Amino acid sequence: MIELTIHGRGGQGGVTLAKLIATAYFLRDKHVQAFGVYAAERSGAPLQAFVRIDDEEITNHNQVSQPDHVIVLDPTLIGPQVTRGLKPEGWVILNTPQPAVAFAEVFAGRNVAVVDGTGIAVAQGLGTRAVPIVNTTMLGAVARVFGLELADVEAALASVRFHGPNVDSAREAFEQVRQTTLPGEFRPAAPAETNGHVAGILDADVGGMPSIHTGNWATRAPHRRQLTPPCNQGCPAGNDVRSFVEAAGREDYAAALEIILKTSPFPGVCGRVCPAPCMTACNRGDFDQAVNIREIERYVADHAPRPEPTYPWRAHAVAVVGSGPAGLSAAYTLARLGYRVEIFEGGPALGGLLRTGIPEYRLPQHMMADEIEYILAHGVLPHVNHFVDRQELHRLSTTFDAVFVGTGLQVSRGLKLGPEAGGSEGRVEQGIDFLDRVRHQDVSVKGEDVVVIGGGNTAIDAARTAVRLGAHRVRVVYRRTRDQMPAIMEEVNEGLDEGVELHELVAPLRMHEDLGRLVLTCQRMRLGEPDESGRAQPIPETTEDAVFDLCCDRIILALGQSADLSIVPEGAQVRDHHRLVGLTAAPIFLGGDVADNAGTVTAAIGGGRIAALHIHRTLTGEDLFPPPAEPVAGPDVIGMQLFAHRPRQEGLVLRPPDRRITFTEVRRGFLDEPSHRPAALEAQRCFSCGVCNQCDRCVQHCPEGIVRREGAGYEFDYSYCKGCGLCASQCPRGVVYMAQL
Ligand code: FAD
Repeated sequence: MIELTIHGRGGQGGVTLAKLIATAYFLRDKHVQAFGVYAAERSGAPLQAFVRIDDEEITNHNQVSQPDHVIVLDPTLIGPQVTRGLKPEGWVILNTPQPAVAFAEVFAGRNVAVVDGTGIAVAQGLGTRAVPIVNTTMLGAVARVFGLELADVEAALASVRFHGPNVDSAREAFEQVRQTTLPGEFRPAAPAETNGHVAGILDADVGGMPSIHTGNWATRAPHRRQLTPPCNQGCPAGNDVRSFVEAAGREDYAAALEIILKTSPFPGVCGRVCPAPCMTACNRGDFDQAVNIREIERYVADHAPRPEPTYPWRAHAVAVVGSGPAGLSAAYTLARLGYRVEIFEGGPALGGLLRTGIPEYRLPQHMMADEIEYILAHGVLPHVNHFVDRQELHRLSTTFDAVFVGTGLQVSRGLKLGPEAGGSEGRVEQGIDFLDRVRHQDVSVKGEDVVVIGGGNTAIDAARTAVRLGAHRVRVVYRRTRDQMPAIMEEVNEGLDEGVELHELVAPLRMHEDLGRLVLTCQRMRLGEPDESGRAQPIPETTEDAVFDLCCDRIILALGQSADLSIVPEGAQVRDHHRLVGLTAAPIFLGGDVADNAGTVTAAIGGGRIAALHIHRTLTGEDLFPPPAEPVAGPDVIGMQLFAHRPRQEGLVLRPPDRRITFTEVRRGFLDEPSHRPAALEAQRCFSCGVCNQCDRCVQHCPEGIVRREGAGYEFDYSYCKGCGLCASQCPRGVVYMAQL
């Protein structure tokens, strides 16, 4: 932003000059602001006008206190005071018949431009020598110094229908202005109030206290509160989203990472595959576009150094069964609290569905492995190929002080496709198995016609994977409509871009083989009344063509999974917070999909962490749960009008034709270029809903000067506050509010 201060006298057209300068830049597509400061001043009284010029919308409406350049319209005002607050490299543009060296003393070391604005204006008949009107003349000089063209000057003047002598005098000044840097050492101008202290608006003693006590003027008074940012409330992992975004906005990515690591060991994973409910909740979505929180998290995870793992020592030991995000999050939380943690995983490696389900093109295995490595570095001991059944769980509960069970959903739903389905020689299979086999390069669908049945993440990932493996045609059949699919909608859209076909309102009936091909008989559906889940129920169509056949080479079933609760000891019941009660041995808690079927990585991370805190409280009595959340700062409390619209920084995405032939990651994150700083720029779009970030607007806008910064907080002097509410109306974050006295 460029800020200018114009010093002139009443009647000389200083405010008009401000507007003309602003107009010249406005016509060059800049955002501008121009205003004067005067009240009852009469003609001839010194007054100031200000200009702001920026590439982005300008929301600061305060007077300019540290101008980039100053312009002096009246020779009698020339003196050191005009450079108060002026930046060292700024120009001092003077209306004077004298050469710049005449001011060598007063403006030593400064950039000075001189022009005889009065002489030119009077010669052109603009005012008299006693009361010259020098604004349009000085516009020419200013334009020359700032690198504008004469055409800009003419356009600005034409826009307000200033012709003839105004244009001629501006042209003369454009040509006659002389610029130089004066010799000598630059000395900042003496401060406005001496005593060695520059008074600022935030100083308590500026202007002293207002003289009128509140008395019975006020019925309301300002107060401060902290609300819950909607992103924080929306994060199932329990991350302090607002705080890490704020740290990223300061480009303190290490601090941002530490904030995330307090609640989640998986910033890199979540920065890639989280459906980002925080972004759905983001108030900025009501203004322009939600802050791109997921990309910021990814950037932080990929760029900030991980802190050394620290874990105190405790005597208690906890067993964790299952190593999906729930189990690993529980293990991480417990290890950081000092517990000795051992993980028992039935599969050959850690990671749960992060390893076996979510494909490489969305979650590169090496990055998931790095995050698991970091969890283990907290002293966690893993055992793989160690399946835990009911008996083994009982054994663990007698040898450990507590057990966490995060076994996910292990039972895949099947479909009765008819007796012929059995003879399909592995060409009908579960989506989860298909995805796992692909990881082991144990599958080929090249040239095949593939039909996937289902509408969840597994269905879409299986379909997109088949495309990448060179399938000739991939169709997803789903008995409801696209907007009712449980799959993450971005994934659905990306799949369609890659050539996956979606057949909505189609339900499979039966299957048989014909001449070596699979034939899936399907039923067209329509939507009826809502069922108990609130979604419109699909009901069969009765038209003539409602039943039809789809021929294909492979059918992939992705109809959802459910929990295998055979591990739960007989007689045990799942109670509050997924604790198993009715047992005599160590406490057992469930978490993740096995407990709530929430179906997202973040929810599993949150479930594992909360269960870990329950275990900690059960074993020690110490309560580490976050305090009850404050009310959410909804869009109604945010001062949206105080923010400028700014386009969202988007991450890079591979083009669909490139995606069809490779398992390379589709989303590439922000363009990593230091000069571009997209993560910080994007983080700076955050409204900081409901949380004060010391923007000082309440101080700046209080007409009585009774709001005072006290350290990181603020105080109101209620003896003088008249309850006007300006501070509250100017608080962008809903922190300052008005309430009865
Ligand atoms: P899991 O990840 O299922 O882990 C359970 C672990 O327990 C497994 O390692 C299993 O081997 C082990 N285990 C089970 N039984 C035993 C036993 N008896 N003894 C020992 N070990 C046992 N969510 C998102 O947020 N974003 C996505 O993009 C996304 N994509 C998905 C794509 C697919 C294909 C699938 C299937 C799911 C996807 N999800 C996604 C959902 C997400 O992966 C799950 O919600 C999450 O992994 C659940 O975590 P969990 O720890 O509860 O269970």
